[in-house]
Amino acid sequence: MRVSAPAQNNYVREMYQKLSLTFGEARNPPELIIVQGKSDLIAGYFTSPSPTIKLDQEIIDICRSFGKDSTNALAVILSHELAHFYRRHDWCGEFAFAVRGTALSQNLKNASNTNRSAFESQADVDGLFNACLSGYRPFGAYPKLLAKIYDVYKRPDKIPNYPTKKERIESAKAAEQQATEGYAVFLTANTWLQLSNYEVATQHFDWLLKKFPSREIFNNAGVAQLLQALSLKARHEVPFIYPVELDSRSRLFTPNTRSGLEDNDRKIEVLLKTAQRNFEEALRKDPDYTPACVNLACVFDLLGNYEAAIGKINELKSQRSLSSNALTIRAIAYLHNEQMEKANRDFAEAQRLSGFGTTHNFALAQKGLAFVQNASEVVEWLEKNTPTQSFVSTKPPLGTFKAISATPTIKLALNPTTTLSGILTTGELSLESKSNAKVLKISKILSIEALTVGSSKANVKEVLGLPIKENPTYWLYDGLIVNFDGDAVSELLQYQLKE
Ligand SMILES: [Zn+2]
Repeated sequence: MRVSAPAQNNYVREMYQKLSLTFGEARNPPELIIVQGKSDLIAGYFTSPSPTIKLDQEIIDICRSFGKDSTNALAVILSHELAHFYRRHDWCGEFAFAVRGTALSQNLKNASNTNRSAFESQADVDGLFNACLSGYRPFGAYPKLLAKIYDVYKRPDKIPNYPTKKERIESAKAAEQQATEGYAVFLTANTWLQLSNYEVATQHFDWLLKKFPSREIFNNAGVAQLLQALSLKARHEVPFIYPVELDSRSRLFTPNTRSGLEDNDRKIEVLLKTAQRNFEEALRKDPDYTPACVNLACVFDLLGNYEAAIGKINELKSQRSLSSNALTIRAIAYLHNEQMEKANRDFAEAQRLSGFGTTHNFALAQKGLAFVQNASEVVEWLEKNTPTQSFVSTKPPLGTFKAISATPTIKLALNPTTTLSGILTTGELSLESKSNAKVLKISKILSIEALTVGSSKANVKEVLGLPIKENPTYWLYDGLIVNFDGDAVSELLQYQLKE
């Protein structure tokens, strides 16, 4: 067998990098070695001498034969092997699809069949869920891929110390079901968050945390609680736009107008403390995870612990190139801590980076701390200086949606008041969530009028007009959420909200 030159298969390496980033841990992924041709190996994770994932060129070619599903099929394998590494299945020196004639045989004997099956199914579920979060749509590809591997590699249906072919395919299907449910709940949770229903979003994230306790879910759960706490505060109490960071897509800011009732104080504190725990948990998994660090600094500032907020940002490795969000929360905390010179420097630098809400924050900070803490002056100023990026009043009419045909249905109970059922369609999801007598029906749609994934922000404004709510990473329309990756549409979510 011959090892390929590093220049080859660049797209495989890019996928590998993307998938390992989504697992979200401080550890670097194992070295990826692509073995030319067809070996006994197929694909595998090795622990010694150093962590390595090996992949046959043949299996890449098999995936390529899946046409439009080729990257999805490859994502299944890479993500499965990475799951073994990130879930620390190290002690049994595992590999995915074969057991013949290698030094690993001895290790394999040490692990019981039951354990192996449990590890395989965990790697399947986590791998598939992670592939979804990385933007792949592996639904349906996995059982087909397994069947093809047994065929091309002429594997016997039964291999000693390894689940049988039938068991492997059954378990792949079960894993797909679980990953689909997880992804549906993830999508619903983020949509509730975008619709500012934080309590229901929190229920969904809590459900997810029991099954997929990753840094991203911890962060987003914390975001739901932090945003709920902010929404309970009076507008003049939080006149700055806080740089709350939702992972991967949505960088939300909080326009709040509700009055701060005194009996809310206890609730706000509980929410902030819970959010704090979730961000700290995310950071325990990955100490360099910037969104959780920025969010935790927001929590500290809101709890009145300004020095901790400043300290959190000062701990970031990227001191020379802090993001505008990191600078913004440090600026707010400096101001609250009466370190005006440093506050002004950070506010100005954040604005220079044209971060979201920074013009508003800079203008407000120029008024000084005494002004910011004077409720009536702040209210008056906010009335004249409502951030233009928050809400606009026009509700453009929407055109017809292109429906996606429905196939299997999944149902799961979130808690006694919330049920969710979803329909797994041709690689896309449509799902319904019922909570507190409200029903949210979300469908991922492929296009609306002339818009599709990849359309620019200018295109979207041309076709749909101004959004109801505009954020850097998503725009909210009546019945439609447009998610962006930079300037390009990354996702179109149609929603219906009924009492
Ligand atoms: Zn495996």
